[in-house]
Amino acid sequence: MNLSNTDLSRFWSPKVHELSPYVPGEQPKISNLVKLNTNENPYSPSPKALAAMEEQLGDLLRLYPDPNATALRQCLASYIGLTADQVFVGNGSDEVLAHTFQALLQHGQPILIPDISYSFYPVYCGLYSIEKCEVPLSEDLTINVSDYQQPNGGVILPNPNAPTGELLSLDSIRQLLTANANRVVVIDEAYIDFGGQSATQLVPEFDNLLVVQTLSKSRSLAGLRVGFAFGQAHLIEALERVKNSFNSYPLSHEAQAGAIAAIEDEDYFQYTCQANIAQREKLAGQLQALGFSMTNSHANFLFVTHETASAKDICAALRLTGIIVRHLTSSPRIDNYLRISIGSASECELLVQALKELL
Ligand SMILES: *Cc1c(COP(=O)(O)O)cnc(C)c1O
Repeated sequence: MNLSNTDLSRFWSPKVHELSPYVPGEQPKISNLVKLNTNENPYSPSPKALAAMEEQLGDLLRLYPDPNATALRQCLASYIGLTADQVFVGNGSDEVLAHTFQALLQHGQPILIPDISYSFYPVYCGLYSIEKCEVPLSEDLTINVSDYQQPNGGVILPNPNAPTGELLSLDSIRQLLTANANRVVVIDEAYIDFGGQSATQLVPEFDNLLVVQTLSKSRSLAGLRVGFAFGQAHLIEALERVKNSFNSYPLSHEAQAGAIAAIEDEDYFQYTCQANIAQREKLAGQLQALGFSMTNSHANFLFVTHETASAKDICAALRLTGIIVRHLTSSPRIDNYLRISIGSASECELLVQALKELL
């Protein structure tokens, strides 16, 4: 790069010029907005989690939080049926994923990711100079695990996939793990609680499996920034080594206490997950009646396309009525699709009414 003396970006480290950062869905500061663009949960966090967090707000904040999040890791371990040394926690699963790319996926060979998937993966590849090989989804926008058998530096995919919501069975995950026995396979389960079977039960069996989860979607705590990884102790140790070379105190007192209370409030969790699932199925039927078709989503969003109206036009028209949905244009194969987060019953009703008038 040839920079003149007047270019203030000459102060940047050379690598910074090459980065293409992730662009999150917008968080507009407009009231009365029906916000269906970032897959946040329409239900409040568990009241018990909120109370536990409030308890932390006092003199205790003078002190650093537990750098090892011992109580939270123990809580997660018992919840999942693993041991605490098989659990890693971080500041949102995005941070857990960042450490994963650095700690486990840098082997000088391209990692395999689906061509249509979570758009943060290519960003981490850029940050850590990891080559990627984008494996095309099948014609019906599902992942075919037999496409993931070429030489690689690791495999990462969301299950259910984002933004399609399509779910892989545990048998398929098992096949993926067996075919890539000498590489780490990362399963990003941000949406698993909305109708999938978690791969965490395969952890004792496979030394190359890392499962990543988050409190952001199914526990209504996107604002708290808590994510986890589950894997055998040697994988967790690699993540710990990177984390403790980066930021030893990622989770605050409130985050650790709130996360424990949220995990322990099983009734509330089950209730809100079931409500989201029921609302998803209802909305799917209503949208089909309006001429939309969609992938088979097992997540807290629908991925829809209309028989006549273009996704771009629908998105723009909805916005004028105060409803925001996500139009992803990363690949031409999906640029006529919209990703619509499952809102509350009244938000979904507003969406359906607006679409009826529009179409
Ligand atoms: C939302 C999401 C994440 C990030 O979750 P945070 O824990 O809020 O950082 C990770 N992966 C996928 C596939 C997601 O959709």
